[in-house]
Amino acid sequence: MLPCTRRRYAGGAERVQGGTSVDADTVRRWLTGAAASLHEQRDYLTQLDAAIGDADHGTNMDRGFTAVVEKLNALDGPAAPGQLLTTAGGTLVSTVGGASGPLWGTALRRAGRALGEADEFGSEELTTALDAALEGVVELGAAQEGDKTMVDALAPAVRTLRQRLEQGETIAAALSAAHEAGEEGMRATVPLQASKGRASYLGERSIGHQDPGATSTALILGALAQSVSTEG
Ligand code: ADP
Ligand code: MG
Repeated sequence: MLPCTRRRYAGGAERVQGGTSVDADTVRRWLTGAAASLHEQRDYLTQLDAAIGDADHGTNMDRGFTAVVEKLNALDGPAAPGQLLTTAGGTLVSTVGGASGPLWGTALRRAGRALGEADEFGSEELTTALDAALEGVVELGAAQEGDKTMVDALAPAVRTLRQRLEQGETIAAALSAAHEAGEEGMRATVPLQASKGRASYLGERSIGHQDPGATSTALILGALAQSVSTEG
């Protein structure tokens, strides 16, 4: 049997099934949508952080993503998806003081670096980029699933994305499933005791609260799913 070439979406019309494509506009829609959603949910995220942290998560994420949108809007000329993500990551690192800035900053930088210079990409590159993002977060923060952090939302989302794309689903459908898996992971942080980050200082008192970083991560995943499904 010939090797399967259908999954090599390195460009061309059949690159992405289902009429969706991932390009610089998609990435801009993602980051702009994430910024809007984080802005809207800022007080909620801060309330969650007030319960098990220092009540700054909403303001941190809102400030960082607002700066990202401003930075991307100010870029001269067209920029490739990878460059947009690298720029966004750097902006988060330099504008957010809390743990979430370097963590999301690293995630987006790694995703950007994984995409390189390509103007458009398909499911394999998308999976590779999100894998790299997760790896960056884990390398920097050393949290594993179950530690009650953003990894509890991001890891199942990335896993689900890979599985669904391997099963032949469209990018839009796979991202929607990934978002749902992220939300499930977010909800599953409630009964956990935190063992990383500020919430871990509370020991058992962190039990019974939803992790703020997992919550903002679910919002960012929602914006990603939305950026593809509303394409066109
Ligand atoms: P800070 O904790 O510095 O005030 P934020 O409030 O902005 O920063 O972010 C808190 C969130 O960061 C937590 O809810 C958690 O999801 C995430 N987080 C904290 N430490 C880690 C870590 N080591 N690895 C992964 N995520 C972490
Ligand atoms: Mg905080």
